Amino acid sequence: MNTKHTFKLNNGVEIPRIGLGVWKVKDGQQSIDTVAYALGQGYRLIDTASFYGNESGVGEAIRNSKIPRDKIFVTTKLWNTDQGYDLAYKAFNKSLSKLGLDYIDLYLIHWPSNDLDLIVDTWRAFEELYKAKKVRVIGVSNFKPIHLDYLLKHTKIVPAINQIELHPYNAQHETREYCTEHNIAIESWSPLMQGGKVLEDSLVVSLAKKYNKSPAQIVLRWHMQNELIVIPKSVTPSRIDENFKIFDFELSDEDFERLNLLDRSKRIGPDPDGMAMRLYGSLSRTIISIKKHKR
Ligand code: NDP
Repeated sequence: MNTKHTFKLNNGVEIPRIGLGVWKVKDGQQSIDTVAYALGQGYRLIDTASFYGNESGVGEAIRNSKIPRDKIFVTTKLWNTDQGYDLAYKAFNKSLSKLGLDYIDLYLIHWPSNDLDLIVDTWRAFEELYKAKKVRVIGVSNFKPIHLDYLLKHTKIVPAINQIELHPYNAQHETREYCTEHNIAIESWSPLMQGGKVLEDSLVVSLAKKYNKSPAQIVLRWHMQNELIVIPKSVTPSRIDENFKIFDFELSDEDFERLNLLDRSKRIGPDPDGMAMRLYGSLSRTIISIKKHKR
């Protein structure tokens, strides 16, 4: 049974295999209390983003904790309107200042642009921040193989992580295969499908009874056995506890395979292509660059 709580990334940095996601956690008291509670329960990875608007509260909880800074792994993300070399630099410094920290552990490009050259420009700023040791790990989020392919061909540092929507109903085989081949770790967002249908799935419910665990623990254990990093969100103390207790049991090979069969490519969040269109406009030069790339 793999009970290791960390995962080694392609640059040798160890990341906790489970962390707390804080999307929709309100800035101020709610984020301070939620992050403080999770840290007290043993969580050492916190996943925020400039878009979530709660970097201040998250940073305050981290700074107020008695835990040494180097024992906490802090992720934040660059929002779409900040893509580009100069804007990315500015956005990074803003996030750092809101968090009140000296460095960030993991900085992610939140969504791909459909302008592949814009992604490359942004990534160059990320590479500089990495070299200047302002960030320990750089990565991307919601990238499909086409985005990664272009990035890998035009830049030097391979992203260490791709954070994507992933749960048993959306197993993302194509992107996972690409990432495994290029030594890019996968981090699952909405690992519990936002507390939705997958937790009511009859197989998940029956396995919860069989292993004397909750449906959420069965799903999170499935992520672990797939070598994925997870960041379930909760503001409920009992759930924050529950989600962390997934290292004391193992799904049998047979049950693990049955869960693998639940995949139906069902997203709850936007498709990165649709998101890029909405954000960057259908007439942007990226479509042209994607077309060129496909030729
Ligand atoms: P999750 O799959 O983590 O589900 C969160 C929801 O499930 C909340 O409503 C929570 O309720 C509920 N929940 C949590 N634990 C349990 C449990 N044990 N049993 C039943 N229900 C539970 O969804 P998220 O979308 O929040 O994803 C996790 C994190 O991923 C985000 O917070 C964010 O950090 C990141 N993310 C990244 C994205 C990206 O584009 N890179 C996009 C979306 C998310 P409650 O809080 O009320 O307890």
